Parts: sequence; C-alpha cells; structure tokens
Amino acid sequence: MKKIFITLLLLYGAACAPATAVQNKAEINPGFVSIDILANLPEPNCESGLTPANQEGPYYKADSPERTSLIDADTQGKRLILSGYVLTSDCYTVPHAWLDFWEANADGEYDNDGYTLRGHQFSDNKGRYYLETIMPGLYNARPIEHIHVKVKIMEGAVFTTQLYFPAQPFDGLTINLQEGEGVLIGYFNFVLK
Ligand code: FE
Repeated sequence: MKKIFITLLLLYGAACAPATAVQNKAEINPGFVSIDILANLPEPNCESGLTPANQEGPYYKADSPERTSLIDADTQGKRLILSGYVLTSDCYTVPHAWLDFWEANADGEYDNDGYTLRGHQFSDNKGRYYLETIMPGLYNARPIEHIHVKVKIMEGAVFTTQLYFPAQPFDGLTINLQEGEGVLIGYFNFVLK
C-alpha cells in the first residue's frame, strides 16, 4: 500500500514538473518528493540491529558541503532518493546527527579534486535524513555498488560504513530499495551505539 502511495505521489510530482525530454532534477521534482517521502517513512524501528561498520576506503575527503542533494541537472546516472532514521541502540531517534556521504559517479569515478557526489547533512528533529543522489557506478577495485557514509551521533565517535544494494547485498548494510517513477527509493536506518 505504501509503495502504491509513494508511486502515486511520484507520478503526481512528475506530472507537475516541466515537460522535458531530458531527465533532470525538475522532472524528479525532489522538493515535492522530499516532503512526502519523509512524511511517509515507516515508524522508526531497530529491526535491523546495530549497523555494522565497514571500511572507509581511500577516497574520503573532509569538509564536504552541507546539502541534501548531491545531483544537479547535468548529473548522469539513475536517480536515487535515500532516506531513513538515525537511531541509538536502544532505539531512540537522534536529531541533529551528522551524516557525510560520498560515492563514485556513474562511471565509477570519485571526484578527488572537488566535492561532486559528496555532501554532509544533519538529521531533522525526528531523526530523519534525506539524500538525493544517483546509483553509484562500479570501479575495478570494487565491482559492487556502494555508497560510503560517516555518521556521528551526539558526543559519540565518528562511525564509518558503506551501504549496499539488493542486487549485491551485504549483511546488515543493504538498502531497502523500491522502484519509483523515474527514481529509485531507498530506505535504510542507522542504528548506532
Ligand atoms: Fe568506494
């Protein structure tokens, strides 16, 4: 039911967007989508158990810009909206958690000179985060789709992990993914000590 509702919202959003042959940010209409995706998130839960840490890899860059969208009209790749909660191990939502995402572009390349496909944000007052991005490309050293992320809650240490996708799942770190209208909808809760 929820999937149908979200799909309908996305269809409505697409219908309200300017007509264009090129898939771009306006066509996804993220401003509209963001409100309704967050409003329709499941109740926070910790069913997944503690989120496992995972390696940082060689391409982290500090001081990414604060933003919830890593894409613009020129970004190539399948659109992905990722959202969920940041929770403590006793399952309290965490407002103002810091989340820093970075990923490869559709060609499997990281921007190590600038901050393309890099950005940090803070969870909202209900512990929710929201990210607009693309499906990451594969690269030789890592032939598995993944998004890197660091999370920090309150006075805790910086937690580093990676998120994966159902086509190549990874225990405890696989995004729940649904196909929307022109965009993939991902859901993942971070449960941290
Ligand atoms: Fe990587």
